Amino acid sequence: MIRKFVSRLASTSMRAGLGVILLASSAVAEPLDYYLVTGTDYDQTVLKPAEEFGHDIGDQPIRHDLMVSYIRQLAAASPRMMVETIGYSHERRPILFITVSSPENLARLDDIRANHLLRSNPETADQASDDLPVVTWLNYGVHGAEASGMDAAVPALYHLAAARGDKIDETLENSVILITAIFNPDGHARRGAWVTQYGSEVRATDPEHEVHNQVWPGARTNHYWFDLNRQWLLQTQPESRAWLEQWHKWKPQVSADFHEMGPNSTYYFHPGVPTRKYPLIPARGRELLVEIAGYHQKSLDQEKSLYFSEEGFDNYYIGKGSTYPQVNGSLGILFEAGAQMGIARESDQGIKTYAKNIRNHFLTSLSTIDGAAAMRTKLHAYQREFYETAMAAAKDDDVTGYVFRAPEDPMRVVKFLALLKRHDVTAYKLSASLRAGGKTFGEDSFVVPMNQTQYRMAKALFNRITEFPDKVFYDVSGWTLPLAYGLDYAPVEASLRGKLADVPSDMAMLKPSFPSDIAPYAYVFHWSDYYAPRAVARLLETGVMARVSKEPIRVQTAGGVVSFDRGAIIVQRDLQTMPIEEMHALLKEVGADNYLQIHAATSGHTLDAGADLGGRNSVADLKAVKPLLVVGGKMSSYDAGEVWHLLDHRMNMPVTLVRQDRLKGVDMRRYTHLILVGGRGDVLPKDMASDLKAWVKAGGTIVASRQGADWAAKYVTGKDKKADKKDDATPERLAYADKGQKDAEHVIGGALFESDLDITHPMGFGLVRRMVASNKNTSTKLPVPKDPYAQVAVYSDSPLLSGYASDRRIEELKGTPMMTAERLGDGAVILFADNPNFRATYLATEKLFLNALFFSTAFDRSYADEADEQAVEE
Ligand SMILES: [Zn+2]
Repeated sequence: MIRKFVSRLASTSMRAGLGVILLASSAVAEPLDYYLVTGTDYDQTVLKPAEEFGHDIGDQPIRHDLMVSYIRQLAAASPRMMVETIGYSHERRPILFITVSSPENLARLDDIRANHLLRSNPETADQASDDLPVVTWLNYGVHGAEASGMDAAVPALYHLAAARGDKIDETLENSVILITAIFNPDGHARRGAWVTQYGSEVRATDPEHEVHNQVWPGARTNHYWFDLNRQWLLQTQPESRAWLEQWHKWKPQVSADFHEMGPNSTYYFHPGVPTRKYPLIPARGRELLVEIAGYHQKSLDQEKSLYFSEEGFDNYYIGKGSTYPQVNGSLGILFEAGAQMGIARESDQGIKTYAKNIRNHFLTSLSTIDGAAAMRTKLHAYQREFYETAMAAAKDDDVTGYVFRAPEDPMRVVKFLALLKRHDVTAYKLSASLRAGGKTFGEDSFVVPMNQTQYRMAKALFNRITEFPDKVFYDVSGWTLPLAYGLDYAPVEASLRGKLADVPSDMAMLKPSFPSDIAPYAYVFHWSDYYAPRAVARLLETGVMARVSKEPIRVQTAGGVVSFDRGAIIVQRDLQTMPIEEMHALLKEVGADNYLQIHAATSGHTLDAGADLGGRNSVADLKAVKPLLVVGGKMSSYDAGEVWHLLDHRMNMPVTLVRQDRLKGVDMRRYTHLILVGGRGDVLPKDMASDLKAWVKAGGTIVASRQGADWAAKYVTGKDKKADKKDDATPERLAYADKGQKDAEHVIGGALFESDLDITHPMGFGLVRRMVASNKNTSTKLPVPKDPYAQVAVYSDSPLLSGYASDRRIEELKGTPMMTAERLGDGAVILFADNPNFRATYLATEKLFLNALFFSTAFDRSYADEADEQAVEE
């Protein structure tokens, strides 16, 4: 439909500056020549993009399936190219990985790789030849909405396959070019569908047109709405896992990442703001980044293209595609074009086209390849130096390693060890006990020694930084992962010599077990296990009754006495409708699926006074959870996606997603929980509060976080925060030049805050340490409930664990609640100041969120509170 109106503009007229005038009255697709390098001879037998797509590049976003097909055909026919499928997205789209080099290099690729990798270890670095090709990585399209960052892969691949002559021969001889052309296929598919659906015959350049304004959740993220350009570090998504495995398989020396930014911006390339650099990135890395920027600069100067390179974007959060490589001996380069959600759009600089963005990304792809090839020997030297200085820094470090454990939940350790492995960080099991952080860590602990080539990466995962020269952060400023995973951990200063053993297999750590015979009285298991909620959800949905113990219990079992912390799950034989043989088989399957140790209780009597398995106050019955998650509107798609990913993907629980504008018409009686995540301002219309309050009083539970919690506190539990607000601000006068830093001073962009958790409260079950870390990225302050038992978690007196927060914010927040749980009528309102499910990485606070679903009626209000409420009700 759009295609027939495409006019084939001569590329020469575009370059002569007539482009804008012509474009104002015609469509914007460009023939292939527009994207290619002037004066280069191209092999005409190579498959041209339009032959496969049925449209020119820039005419409309290239459909994912067509791009896959094109790349496969191109690679099959080209002696310079290989393609493999390295993984699949959640929606089962393939993730392609392309290797480009000279045919001679491709024939000895394994040798080249083996030799190249010698450089990343000082012990073998001298054996690597300086004649080896440079390894350059081009990553296209991590953000689906930024489609020019992906479509630019097509002219780049075509150029690499079809260009002829000495220049390309020399480039290919000196380079191994690795390309992930379709890193976020699901997001890209959403963008393609949107732009195609709103494609118009008359070019829609008006920024108000729907084509430029994709509805919630947009197309930036993957299927579960995760920002994959934050996932280099966290590695919770299949796309980033597939990609990082290849990255470490090769350890490329230059890594480029192609994006789009706001439509009124020009074009950006790294090095970025000089002061905003993660401290473990070597100064030499920055120097080389500045040097390679010279190649992009030259290329864009020739085009007379506007650009910027040292403002706006930074090199701090190492989970981004342009920063992660820099703590791994590589140069990371960010490229950003001013976004064109449609095909052309009005901007402050006139009409800008999608085609031009593709062309700019294509040109900087080539300047990256050429710059890397020209800087080949310098990059070889840098890679050697990077690992030498890493080992030297490890020797100088007072910390010899980091020790960690979570015996209450071995799965969290298994997951953490897997994460370390993905980052090529070596861990060991502790073979003898040691003292660290004032505690003794025994043989149930693990250790990451600093004396390893991945020193910088290991340090970046474990250390806590709370002092910063610059207060502006593009993303989070703290991410200390053992804290996020809720591990008991400490830096070690003693020698680790003789204390390191190999990490056992996952199954040897998890040790799932199941009684061979039918339990005489009941089945009992720990709630602290990562997948215990998934097991309980499955049992309850299948109609099996289960109970939770609110007291620690010692249970007589077939295999002896077993101690359980609070939260033990009891599946009694009494009153079940399912025949016992069937229930036994089901529990066996559920136990195995969830890596549980399930015990067979021989009696209802425990060894603890006052707590029998049939207990009245000490044990609560559980009910199947039917949550409704509000999506759309003002909700943050990230926060909502994290809940969806947790419940659907990891816990395999049904969760009903309802768009905010449909919520009013939904019969809430069908649901046990309403989940309100963070978002913008008042996340729901105020007039919904009274119905929801009535639903809570009738037994429903609201579980809300960040701005969702603000809304619930304001309109449902009815506490106004006005009283807390201090108006102590005398207007100041400041220099405009200080605005950037001053404005950012009190913003908490993402830091780890410490809370004291009441682990005796059902909302704290499953966690055994009172200290819990959460990711704080708002200044949300929860009101203090009247019920003295309702402050489940409270920020500690000195709450900043890692990352940046101003002294004023710390002062305001310390001692205030991070989590509250109040009963209201027959239901409950459970609020989190922070997002407990942040980026699927905060495994301890995630447990608190799951507690809010499973145990929301397993706690009682204060009697005093109850008397109070009754007085009001009557
Ligand atoms: Zn982006």
